Amino acid sequence: MALVIDGKKISNEIKDELKLKVEKMKEEGKQVTLAVVLVGDDPASKVYVANKKKACEYIGIRSLSYELPEQTSQAELLALVEKLNNDTDVNGILVQLPLPAHIDEEAVLAAISPAKDVDGFHPMNVGKLSIGQKGMVSCTPAGVIELLKRSGIGIEGKECVIIGRSNIVGKPMALLMLKENATVTVCHSRTKNLKEVAKRADILIVAMGKPRFVNKEYVKEGAVVIDVGIHRDENNKLCGDVDYNDVVDHVSAITPVPGGVGPMTIAMLMKNCVESV
Ligand code: NAD
Repeated sequence: MALVIDGKKISNEIKDELKLKVEKMKEEGKQVTLAVVLVGDDPASKVYVANKKKACEYIGIRSLSYELPEQTSQAELLALVEKLNNDTDVNGILVQLPLPAHIDEEAVLAAISPAKDVDGFHPMNVGKLSIGQKGMVSCTPAGVIELLKRSGIGIEGKECVIIGRSNIVGKPMALLMLKENATVTVCHSRTKNLKEVAKRADILIVAMGKPRFVNKEYVKEGAVVIDVGIHRDENNKLCGDVDYNDVVDHVSAITPVPGGVGPMTIAMLMKNCVESV
């Protein structure tokens, strides 16, 4: 029977470890502060921000909230980022994406001080990851590594296939698996023979944004399958990029959706905040 990797449990373990660490830091007079910036009224972004603040509260991280109107100009947002960069009480800065269309996301992310870039999106942190230096690592891929390690799944020497090459998931995921000494293949929308390539994987990581796309024809018997995708299906039910019911009896371990990779993202964000002090 497949091991169903419990991301909720593992993320709670991480949050509890961080809570203890933050308590100790407080005894030493150190406070962790995260500034969360939200521009506009996107309902999904509001939920994400609320969940991040809730996690901060649980761990004992102080969160500062900046909720700006949709029509905020790029210059105004950059001025706020600059103010937070210079505020020595602020350890982490998170600008919730997506930003309204009139704001250049890349310019805003690049303006955040790399030392406070808890999302790990700054080009400096991405560069550090690519050359194996310590820096802030993008939270979702970092969460996948924790899930694998804390489930006792070895990575070194394994064939790892990643489907998806986005800047926030696929690419940093590939770099992290490489750092863990896997043999890494990255697939994308122009990959030929996707099924054959995916079937080579001992560890298959799917981050393609296509509901229930990957069925057992893409999966080697006994592989580990990590499903990063998250969608609402036609019945408003959450599902991933993997057809869970089709592959579950075919694999050695799998992450469910919900309750797999999803909860790890916030836990790793909290970890980045605590480590930024
Ligand atoms: P994206 O749309 O930016 O990238 C998708 C990638 O998949 C692209 O590189 C594309 O080339 C590839 N792709 C698309 N169709 C393909 C096909 N038919 N064959 C091969 N490759 C194909 O998406 P993203 O931001 O990387 O997110 C991927 C999924 O993960 C989404 O469902 C997203 O909601 C989810 N996500 C979840 C979390 C989390 O916390 N669990 C975090 C980020 C993203």
